[in-house]
Amino acid sequence: MEDTICAISTAQGNAGIGIIRMSGNDCFNVLDKIFRLKDLTHLSIDNIKGYTMKYGFIVDDYNNKIDEVLVSFFVNPKSYTRENMVEINSHGGSVVEQIILERCLSNGARIAEPGEFTKRAFLNGRIDLAQAEGIIDIINSKTKMEEKASVNQLEGYLSEKIHEVEKDLLNIMADIEASIDYPEYDEVDITSNNIINSLNIVDDKLNVLVKSFDSGRVIKEGIKTVIIGKPNVGKSSLLNKILKTDRAIVSSIEGTTRDTIEEFITINGIPVNIIDTAGIRKTRNEIEKIGVEKAINISNDAELILAIFDISSEISDDDFKILDLIKDKKAIVIFNKVDLKSQSEDELLKRVNEIDKPYVKISAKTGEGIDELYGLVEKLFNLNDFEDGRNIIITNIRHKNEIERALNNINKARESLDNNMTVDIVAINIKEALNSLANITGENVSEDIINEIFSKFCLGK
Ligand code: GDP
Repeated sequence: MEDTICAISTAQGNAGIGIIRMSGNDCFNVLDKIFRLKDLTHLSIDNIKGYTMKYGFIVDDYNNKIDEVLVSFFVNPKSYTRENMVEINSHGGSVVEQIILERCLSNGARIAEPGEFTKRAFLNGRIDLAQAEGIIDIINSKTKMEEKASVNQLEGYLSEKIHEVEKDLLNIMADIEASIDYPEYDEVDITSNNIINSLNIVDDKLNVLVKSFDSGRVIKEGIKTVIIGKPNVGKSSLLNKILKTDRAIVSSIEGTTRDTIEEFITINGIPVNIIDTAGIRKTRNEIEKIGVEKAINISNDAELILAIFDISSEISDDDFKILDLIKDKKAIVIFNKVDLKSQSEDELLKRVNEIDKPYVKISAKTGEGIDELYGLVEKLFNLNDFEDGRNIIITNIRHKNEIERALNNINKARESLDNNMTVDIVAINIKEALNSLANITGENVSEDIINEIFSKFCLGK
């Protein structure tokens, strides 16, 4: 029998309740040593029903009360891990939770490793590996969209798609085996054309998944965005305005490049990562004015450029340089200071139309036009489409790598067929592709990979 494992599953700190979780088919016995009903009598552990709760006390070895608790019971296989489980709902303070945990430990349970509950759910066949990874992604989600993609993964939509492709490949294998078994039906050409057609279909399906990783990355990490423009056009005013609107949820993280801060915001649910270069949020006298040359460097690896212009002053050579810089990039042109008298709006509009970029007129001072700006960002990235239904977006690099490996082998299979290689070589390529796909759902994945995946979980999950 598997050990009984236990852990504090709620975050540390003072809170209304805390949950200590135990799993293992012996866990009701462990509980019986530390838990008493309201009248300090024992539970009748043989009659425990799943999905019920009991009110009572955690007690020490002398029946002294430690805390008043509610215990939820889950009877295998109808539990998170498919083992017997209990969840002790105690008061949420680090000390009380710790004492209850120690009571479990000194009465036969051992401390769970990070992710061990979910690992058991996987090993006991309740969920597959991709679904387990969906759970960790739900917990780590920074945006609503990422959460939605992760829950779709937990629901098994990705696994379903992978199984569909596996079935296609197994059908192809069956055709190949038929042609090996009955070589007297000399229809090699027909067979190989059929196989190539079927492989093309598989290729298309897998390519859709690989391509979805671009959106997956954006959903996870945000659209890498920079605000560029000449000094005094209103960059820091715009950034401050965006950060202050209640449509934007903000958190600041250390940037990947030196001396930058990344402001992670979600605008209408869309994750946007504004790379705050050269401290444009610093107080006025500290501002390091960004030269146009520097702006060019900064915007090189941005996925979205917000190019801002001050229409209350004349348009200059530096503005032209900036327009030239964004010519071939995903960019939104911002006409700022519309609350002032325009000096350059018509001229700028002409130039913007020439390079065919979306634009918006705003006042970073009054907030006018900010909503239109958000609308443009939304339109440009089209991410909200994915919110409905069972859309699959690959957000996990491990999955993407395995799918690419499968595609590689499918290509090899096609080449082998083109070069009139014997079909058993083609069969080997297809088997390799099948192996990669099985790694995603975890059917034949190595123990090292399993351990690595679950070690990234938090304690108590
Ligand atoms: P940066 O150097 O590009 O970051 O520009 P700032 O955001 O520091 O703005 C420069 C000056 O323009 C400041 O005095 C701002 O108050 C002012 N400013 C910025 N946006 C607007 C706007 O939309 N309307 C008006 N009237 N003034 C603005």
